[in-house]
Amino acid sequence: MGEKITGNKTNFHSHSLFCDGKAPLEAFVKSAVEAGFTAYGVSSHAPLPFKTAWNMDREEVPAYLREMERLKEVYRDRIALYTGMEIDYLNEVWNPASDYFQQLPLDFRIGSVHLVYTPEGEIVDTDTGAESFKQLIADHFAGSLEAIVGACFEASLQLVEKGGFDFIGHPNKIAFNAEAYRPGATGEPWYKVHVGRLFEALKENHIMVEINTKAYLTKGCFFPDRSLFGWLKELELPVVVNSDAHRPELVDAGRREALKALKESGIRSVMELEAGSWVPKEIV
Ligand SMILES: [Zn+2]
Ligand SMILES: [Zn+2]
Repeated sequence: MGEKITGNKTNFHSHSLFCDGKAPLEAFVKSAVEAGFTAYGVSSHAPLPFKTAWNMDREEVPAYLREMERLKEVYRDRIALYTGMEIDYLNEVWNPASDYFQQLPLDFRIGSVHLVYTPEGEIVDTDTGAESFKQLIADHFAGSLEAIVGACFEASLQLVEKGGFDFIGHPNKIAFNAEAYRPGATGEPWYKVHVGRLFEALKENHIMVEINTKAYLTKGCFFPDRSLFGWLKELELPVVVNSDAHRPELVDAGRREALKALKESGIRSVMELEAGSWVPKEIV
């Protein structure tokens, strides 16, 4: 199938200096305009009840919203801009459905799991390099890959059941670290049960699934990866393709490749924001 992807120039997951991105918001917008995008959504890591190196502080939220309003105005003839946030599921109290996040004037919300509680009740970041992932398992999960993966999928299930967001960010991203830890792990029955439960819950709760292309250039995979696209198709889960760019030059990274892989798996359309609403758009 040598068909070229020429359309679907949109993205709804992007960071900036307001969180752990490496350039000002406007640099990402300019890069999206130069790449010929029709719509671009930014999604700073939402505040958490404690400080981290990658989240926006709560006091910075008004400035973030104001800067997006300014950019929407400046670029209105060139691109449709949308203000979002990537909101962590932390626990029952702090998640995308929380009043604070629901009352913010956002155009869209991403629900993501990066943090989980260890059996001792400590909060740890699972979205980390393969080496520190290995260390996490040794230090906090008694050497059990099953335990850390289970904690991650459990948090994802709770995220989905609570709701309050448009699409789930990079579901099954932990697969990459799980495979690095024990090759073949994601093909084992227990692992597939987790994925199946999550997909069913997404279906039941009418939540869209992100195909995250952030690691495509460096690791050659998507989150979730193409081996799961057939499953997404079977369940008719609507998908959104995003680059999760932290650098302006990466706003378009992996987009065409993901769209092509989706098409090859029989998925004919992706969801895009148009005039403020999510609509299915044929992959062209
Ligand atoms: Zn994320
Ligand atoms: Zn992100």
